[in-house]
Amino acid sequence: MTHKFIFVVGGVMSGVGKGVASASIGKVLQSKGYKVTAIKIDPYINVDAGTMNPTEHGEVFVTDDGDETDQDIGNYERFLDQDINSPNYMTTGRVYLSVIQRERNLEYDGKCVEVVPHVPEEVINRIKKAADLAGADFTIIEVGGTVGEYQNILFLEAIRILRTEIPDDVMTIMVSYLPIPSKVGEMKTKPTQNAVRTLNSTGIFPSFILCRSAMPIDEIRRKKLATFCNIPKDNAISAPDVDNIYKIPINFDNQGLGDKILQSFNLSPQQKDLQDWRNLFNKIEKLDKKVKIGIAGKYFATGDFTLADSYISVIEAIKHAGWANNVLPELIWLNTEEYEQNPGKIEELNKFSGIIVPGGFGSRGVEGKIMAIQYCRENNIPYLGLCYGMQLATIEFARNVVGIEDVNSEEVNPNCKNPVIHIMPDQKKKVADKDMGGTMRLGAYPCVLNETSKSFEAYGQKEISERHRHRYEFNNDYRQQMTEKGLLLAGLSPDENLVEIIEIPDHKFFVGTQFHPEFKSRPLKPHPLFREFIKAAIN
Ligand code: GLN
Repeated sequence: MTHKFIFVVGGVMSGVGKGVASASIGKVLQSKGYKVTAIKIDPYINVDAGTMNPTEHGEVFVTDDGDETDQDIGNYERFLDQDINSPNYMTTGRVYLSVIQRERNLEYDGKCVEVVPHVPEEVINRIKKAADLAGADFTIIEVGGTVGEYQNILFLEAIRILRTEIPDDVMTIMVSYLPIPSKVGEMKTKPTQNAVRTLNSTGIFPSFILCRSAMPIDEIRRKKLATFCNIPKDNAISAPDVDNIYKIPINFDNQGLGDKILQSFNLSPQQKDLQDWRNLFNKIEKLDKKVKIGIAGKYFATGDFTLADSYISVIEAIKHAGWANNVLPELIWLNTEEYEQNPGKIEELNKFSGIIVPGGFGSRGVEGKIMAIQYCRENNIPYLGLCYGMQLATIEFARNVVGIEDVNSEEVNPNCKNPVIHIMPDQKKKVADKDMGGTMRLGAYPCVLNETSKSFEAYGQKEISERHRHRYEFNNDYRQQMTEKGLLLAGLSPDENLVEIIEIPDHKFFVGTQFHPEFKSRPLKPHPLFREFIKAAIN
């Protein structure tokens, strides 16, 4: 069959779960026996998400091929259970950069290079290339932002142009928000009607509206949307809030969304199978045992609100691991800056079954994190350190077990006497030249495990591949001192030059990874290290 392209656009407002909705549409079609891939388009100028603060943008999701992408790529990977790579992510900045590059290379044959059609054409070429690379029957393309915004207009233009070219192979779905104002007490469709009209004015007519709201949409409002938005009433799909995002594909499938999409393309389901997901749900719904996990990060606060988006892959990985161990993880955010001001507060950690220090940058809250790590080490509380969490655990061990003085990471204190974590040699020049975009050690690298380690036991294999995003590393000058005092270098790069995992063997579970295992956890395939961490936390 020819490639089919399904564009997902947002109506009314952002933050209503368009990424998860896109991933769920893909999941449903995949479950019908079709090959699916998903693309994220972000309308900002940043060439990638790597240069943005997580409180601005949420997590930076790292792909196997080393791209720093939007967190929705993580949703696609988790829902579709497949790796998504760099060709499936684009931003305005990235698109313009290649148009300008091509102009400089005389690739436009002396033509005047214009915003339209050349920019939408570049977008379309990228979409087609990603679909080809994936060999996909269906490519879901999520357009970031909301219709009516100035920023994503060129991407809407790309939809219109592609649809003109291959009308039978292109569909648009709008994910819109239907508010239920408390004083009115009724679900309102008007904002969505306006959003659809705005979309219509760009020449695009959605075939489905996914109705995000606190409640399911009723018959009266379905009819209203049908009348005012030119869709059959049964194409207004209910998408009420859920307590667990993995339920969304099941909700969609129960309303026949997959079959209806296939029908519009004159296709039929090849198989009926969301069974493994339904089974997972039946199981989760029966779980009642909880396990309390503390996460010591710093990117939570935006004004008066807490934003857990910065650590979404970590959170999901913990959930997957919990379900595999038949427990419901209860996540508590720990503000380690408080330990620095009030050291007695650290005692709160004894209420936790396990502590995670996730990735991070800079010096804020670092001493508090090191205090938390020390507390876990001394009190045999399961600890999992992810990237920065591994580096800070190394510092803690050097200071408090080996007894080295003035220890730090060069990132925090470049003038310390003993930088047990130091900048990677090839990073030095990049930082000095301010060559910072997309230049960290990024993406998948192999790692060889020590066969006596807990990590080896967890993975059940000697060679693994994991994703990285860092500029600093374990300083090999300190290897001997550290291992003599009991630190296990549980994972090394194949040339043995880079320390990728540290462990403390006589601890219940104390593992720090230079990589980010959270990126590879999937709902039905929990990551081995998270799985074992939770297992230790339960015991
Ligand atoms: N800031 C540290 C480094 O750059 C750790 C990065 C991270 O946790 N992702 O090496």
